[in-house]
Amino acid sequence: MLDPNSTRDVGPRVGTPLWVYLASTTAAGFALLGVSLFNFGLDRLQELAAKPLIWVILCMVIIGELRPIVRSRMPSDDGVPTSLPFGFALLISYGLPVAGLVQAIATAIAGVARGYSTHRTVFNLAQYTLSFGAANAVLLLASGAAPWVPHGPELLIVMLSGATYFVSNLVLVECAVAMHERVPLHLAFGKDLGQRLFVNGVLFSLAPLVVVAMNHSVWLVPLFSLPLVALYTSATLSAKREYQANHDELTGLANRKLLILRTQEALSEAQQRKQRVGLLLLDLDRFKEVNDTLGHPTGDRLLQTVARRLAHSVRPGDLVARLGGDEFAVLLPQVRDAASAREVAARLRVSLAEPVRLDGMDFDLEVSVGIALYPNHAPDFELLMQRADIAMYVAKERRTGVELYAPHKDRNSTARLSLFGELRRALAEGELEMFYQPKVSLDDHRAVGLEALVRWRHPKRGILPPEEFVPLAEQSYLMRSFTHEVMESTLPRISHWWSEGHRLPVAVNLSARELLDPTLPEIVAAGLSRHGVPPEALRLEISERVMVAEADAVTPIILTLSDLGVSLSLDDFGTGYFTLARIKGLPVEEIKIDESFVRRSVDDPDGRVIVESAVDLVGTLGMRAVAEGVETAGVAEAMHAMGCYAAQGRFFAPPLEAAEVVDWLLKNGGLDHSSGERTTSA
Ligand code: C2E
Ligand code: MG
Ligand code: MG
Repeated sequence: MLDPNSTRDVGPRVGTPLWVYLASTTAAGFALLGVSLFNFGLDRLQELAAKPLIWVILCMVIIGELRPIVRSRMPSDDGVPTSLPFGFALLISYGLPVAGLVQAIATAIAGVARGYSTHRTVFNLAQYTLSFGAANAVLLLASGAAPWVPHGPELLIVMLSGATYFVSNLVLVECAVAMHERVPLHLAFGKDLGQRLFVNGVLFSLAPLVVVAMNHSVWLVPLFSLPLVALYTSATLSAKREYQANHDELTGLANRKLLILRTQEALSEAQQRKQRVGLLLLDLDRFKEVNDTLGHPTGDRLLQTVARRLAHSVRPGDLVARLGGDEFAVLLPQVRDAASAREVAARLRVSLAEPVRLDGMDFDLEVSVGIALYPNHAPDFELLMQRADIAMYVAKERRTGVELYAPHKDRNSTARLSLFGELRRALAEGELEMFYQPKVSLDDHRAVGLEALVRWRHPKRGILPPEEFVPLAEQSYLMRSFTHEVMESTLPRISHWWSEGHRLPVAVNLSARELLDPTLPEIVAAGLSRHGVPPEALRLEISERVMVAEADAVTPIILTLSDLGVSLSLDDFGTGYFTLARIKGLPVEEIKIDESFVRRSVDDPDGRVIVESAVDLVGTLGMRAVAEGVETAGVAEAMHAMGCYAAQGRFFAPPLEAAEVVDWLLKNGGLDHSSGERTTSA
């Protein structure tokens, strides 16, 4: 019901409706217990206390209270105690005062043992007494002298009494839960009702058998623990499995699966009640640095601290989830307006503002939060998530901390949005495919490398070029799966070609968003080792535009990438007013002169001078220039004359399907004498 570490055990504030409810229920329960014990009389109690039976049952009730059958492993879930058959057997045999007293003692002991707060324990105690009281009222219709053993049709009354207990208990507890979590009553009641009925039914059905055993011989009673242990064990196991399936192992927070489920529930509820739902996406800034400098165990502890702080900063009923890495989400099933959602976001940021002390060092955490609201920004989970993600990206980019989704900051058009859903499917179903375009030496026209270019084999629209969908992936949480997909289809190819002797570096393009993802080096490193690809076989192309706009943010990631041993290439040079001098210190091996620049240099003498001096500078800085988009022999020659060492373009080869690459290489050779780069077997 609640997150781990939730605040349920912190008592409600005095005077709130929940407080009034808990206080009055507790008072009523204690009054009922007091009055019934008073009427019963001390003498009869003493008489009963002399019987071993009462003590044996008390033991069974205590053990049963400590071993409840839970629906989930949430600390907030009390579960159904396996004490029920024994407590209820006492109620049938001796009535409310005895059952109530034994239950009260057991509840108090279990409360202390399980570390419950006093207010929770006394409420539980009162709740039992009241439920037993209601059940007892039904039993009074038929019960005879104590100890009463029901026979024949009297069992129907026992059943009715059990049902009364179940309903009273349900109402008493769920009213508190509904008030605490601010969910409608019917939702609280309806939750897992089938399972609750089943477990209670099984436990109640044992009660008359316990009564019979009690009357026969007290030593038969403990035998009931065997079926109860079996029931308890299997229920605990399945609750554990369910918990594991829905929670993040490291932090114990909800995982994506549970977040989706809860969001969908919240959306359908909000739709009926014309309310708003908020989805917040959080991404830690610079978490990667901690992970890298101090190692994963420390990074993990940091994430656990973050999780704890976030879980403590939301209201009951809100859900904090970890989506993986340093990405978290918070679901607000009911939020008044954008301002309230911003308030929550601010509260979450404040909770992380206090430095975290780990390994004797203080860490300052900062987080960027993106907010999207239903129904203002999106009608369903997918879009809500996408838009929160866009907002978060804007928050990160502008360093504002918190951003609410705003359509004008989102470059998605409607048509693109419908493509978005399809892209998600495409990623899942492997519709993305890599084509490979050779880079050719201008000295001898032999291949010196390949560039991997992504295509989407769309079932209806045919092969789509990257500009139709890469920006879409870039603006959404699909980016990581996209990068993963590109790596996972390219790396096995490289591995295969290299093992066959075609030892050419293969370049993969990385967009700004990919480079801003601190997990990128991990994705690349893991891919390289999984597919046995030597790092020198992989080259990463980074567009000049990215270097102009995001140099500070991406430089640490670029350095980490080059530490892996992969080489870098500055793509689209000439489109972004990048000063080559800034590249100093970055391990860039080649500069790719953009196709527009190449074209201009051939048409216009000024352009020619600019390109020539740029190529010159590239050489002086110890890098090599590659011309892009070379479509004719004339251009190839001109670029060669200007000092480019290699070129890429349809004049040499268009982007080829993977299966065509080896044939092309065998026909055109793959030797690169000038560079000393390793050769193909051609
Ligand atoms: P880019 O990295 O500059 O790629 C070169 C582009 O030039 C490719 O376009 C290629 O098909 C095209 N091209 C090849 N020969 C010629 C020619 O003779 N003349 C002209 N005018 N163009 C030629 P493509 O495949 O449409 O890719 C466009 C851009 O999309 C790429 O530009 C790259 O920035 C991006 N991209 C491609 N694949 C990926 C990928 O896997 N991940 C990411 N993040 N971006 C990618
Ligand atoms: Mg490229
Ligand atoms: Mg380019």
